[in-house]
Amino acid sequence: MDFSLTPQQLALQDSVRRFARQELPDIARQIEADDEPPGTDLRRRFAELGYLGVNLPSEFGGAGMSHLDAVLVLEELAKISIAVAFPVFESCFGPCLAIAHFGNDSLKQRILPAVCSGETVVAVSMSEPDAGSALTDLKTSAREEDGRVIINGSKRWCSGAGHAEAYVVYCRMSDAPGAKGIGAVLVPKDAVGFSVGQRDHHMGFRGVYSADMYFDDVSVPAENILVPAGGFGKLMDAFDLERCGNTTMSLAVAQSAFDYVLDYVQQRQQFGKALVEFQAVQIQLAEMKMKLEAARLLLYRAVVNAEHGLPSIAESSVAKCFANETVREVTGKAMQLMGGYGYSKEFPIEQKMRDGWGWGIAGGAIDIQKVNIAGALVGRRFNQRAR
Ligand SMILES: Cc1cc2nc3c(=O)[nH]c(=O)nc-3n(C[C@H](O)[C@H](O)[C@H](O)COP(=O)(O)OP(=O)(O)OC[C@H]3O[C@@H](n4cnc5c(N)ncnc54)[C@H](O)[C@@H]3O)c2cc1C
Repeated sequence: MDFSLTPQQLALQDSVRRFARQELPDIARQIEADDEPPGTDLRRRFAELGYLGVNLPSEFGGAGMSHLDAVLVLEELAKISIAVAFPVFESCFGPCLAIAHFGNDSLKQRILPAVCSGETVVAVSMSEPDAGSALTDLKTSAREEDGRVIINGSKRWCSGAGHAEAYVVYCRMSDAPGAKGIGAVLVPKDAVGFSVGQRDHHMGFRGVYSADMYFDDVSVPAENILVPAGGFGKLMDAFDLERCGNTTMSLAVAQSAFDYVLDYVQQRQQFGKALVEFQAVQIQLAEMKMKLEAARLLLYRAVVNAEHGLPSIAESSVAKCFANETVREVTGKAMQLMGGYGYSKEFPIEQKMRDGWGWGIAGGAIDIQKVNIAGALVGRRFNQRAR
């Protein structure tokens, strides 16, 4: 077993890190201040550098590289901020991967090159007011009629709602109950009957739109069906890769908080010496470092074992859950080690704590991941509805 990155991967990591440190901090600050997503200029710049669709097939405009390469790119960008890295997250780990794996040729040709060139962002819309953790209770319906699909219902918490150019919408596509009736359809933003409500305001994730979305007899061509009823398993397989993107975002936020505070405790003096001289501080640093290393190894294992396919639910859930808990712990410790400065908006840690917290809810709550892990241990899924 070889735990080292290849020379090419080290070079990629280094070049993204240099780019991110040079070009992104001002943009990230602006996004945080205005609460508006990065503009098309930045998306085009990412496209030029090959960061959009790192792991998408080259025939559709991607770089055809591995999921690990995509992790390395995303981590360096998200160390600056999650909002600035969001288009890369969506293109390398979001619904585009489901399109690449399960979409028909027309869908792949129309969507993937546009995503890789920075023209289009595709978001995923699964959650509904009454279907969060209990996702298979979703009610939004899609029925086929004369070569069209007619969609009715409403969605909640979609990251990118109102901003993305297209949405992969999980729908009930047959009368079969629960997961069996679920499929997914691509809905463009300009579809007639599609509308977006007021923006939600989260604790963190500034610059990432979120809102309710409404579908009132929205009609799209049948070729926009990503997977028909019965395809929920496929959607969840692709979502295992999304979980690795979520893990990467968590890890990047945690790592950057750690890097910042490691420097801080060596500079800040109290009782006539640097904070790092106190053993209690040293122990906090060591505990943070242990969690970060473990989170990184779990993430790398999940994506390396997937190669160009999709990761296992067991490995992606373990990685996500651990990184989601790690980012909360590490940003919390970093804030405490910085005292009043950690709590101040003049320093970067409070934003990292706000941004870091959300990943343990997005993409499936931490406890739901733990239930998945236990299910994988005993080789079955636990029925949450059993009484
Ligand atoms: C920042 C952010 C971004 C998001 N982005 C998207 C997106 O792009 N697209 C999208 O479709 N959705 C998105 N979501 C929604 C997200 O997927 C849901 O919030 C999540 O699945 C939880 O659903 P819920 O909020 O309805 O909580 P609930 O399902 O009401 O759960 C609340 C809590 O109850 C507990 N719980 C519930 N059921 C169980 C159980 N069976 N066992 C143990 N504990 C349980 C858990 O602790 C859980 O956290 C996003 C959410 C956030 C916060």
